[in-house]
Amino acid sequence: MVSEQTAADTFALLSDESRVEILRSIAIAQYEQGPSNSGFAPLSFSDIYERIDIDNTSKLSYHLGELTDTYLRKTDDGYSFTHAGEQIVRFILAENFRQPAEFEPIETEGTCLYCGETQLEAGLDDQYFMVRCPSCERPVTGYIVTPAQTRSYSGTALLDSLKRKQAVEFSLVQEGICPECAGRIRTDVLDASEQPIPEEVPVSYFTIAECEACLRRYSGPLTYSAAFRTPAVSFYWEQGVDIMGTGWWELHRYLTEGEWTAERIATDPAEYRVVLRHEDAALRVFLDDETRITRTERVHGRNID
Ligand SMILES: [Zn+2]
Ligand SMILES: [Zn+2]
Repeated sequence: MVSEQTAADTFALLSDESRVEILRSIAIAQYEQGPSNSGFAPLSFSDIYERIDIDNTSKLSYHLGELTDTYLRKTDDGYSFTHAGEQIVRFILAENFRQPAEFEPIETEGTCLYCGETQLEAGLDDQYFMVRCPSCERPVTGYIVTPAQTRSYSGTALLDSLKRKQAVEFSLVQEGICPECAGRIRTDVLDASEQPIPEEVPVSYFTIAECEACLRRYSGPLTYSAAFRTPAVSFYWEQGVDIMGTGWWELHRYLTEGEWTAERIATDPAEYRVVLRHEDAALRVFLDDETRITRTERVHGRNID
């Protein structure tokens, strides 16, 4: 029964080169057929048989039978992917099961929150992209990099792709949607003074966001939860700053320079005010205890708080 199939059963179905080849061939064939109005068109049995190196039709029939209901959906028009099939075939085609390609450390400007160093170094640390501080040797920021990403881009183009991906994903997290699985994200705000964070780090509140479904966890300063939202992105865009194309290590200067601040203005339930400044203008963002925006205010003049 499909409904009783375990994760192990699902993956065991793929321990056969022909089946992996069938999934790959269907995806390539659908791609070559060109775009259609309703996604990809199903592929008939004979279309698949033509494209794949397999002894006879009964073998193909057997393997298609094994893949159907888990990775493939069968209709009168032929075979198409299920959700699991779609996910796994993109993973296979992108070769994201391999290791990320090694690359030389990339020099990049930013700010170390521990010592203020501005000449930083980006590199690979297992499956993580890490920006490190050469002065105090601490990690400044890190994010997941995919093997396809390290093969597709290098140097500053790789950095740009990482900045964009992290920005888009972090802004999705702020809306309560998991970038990995689209499950529900729950966010808590923590007081930095109650956490084991070095005193020199200029962050008063930070957030922990967790996916209830896949357990993926995201954390960052509370000011970033406000900065990666539409009101802040448009405020900065009008000032000539593209927040969605700026790396966290580059945004850190807003913290060390006191341009981005957060304070708790009410308890039980908690409410927070984040102020994001740019020259003599600022955006105040009010957030509840789950970082939902309750209101925003644009203000002008010096000494904004
Ligand atoms: Zn440092
Ligand atoms: Zn998730």
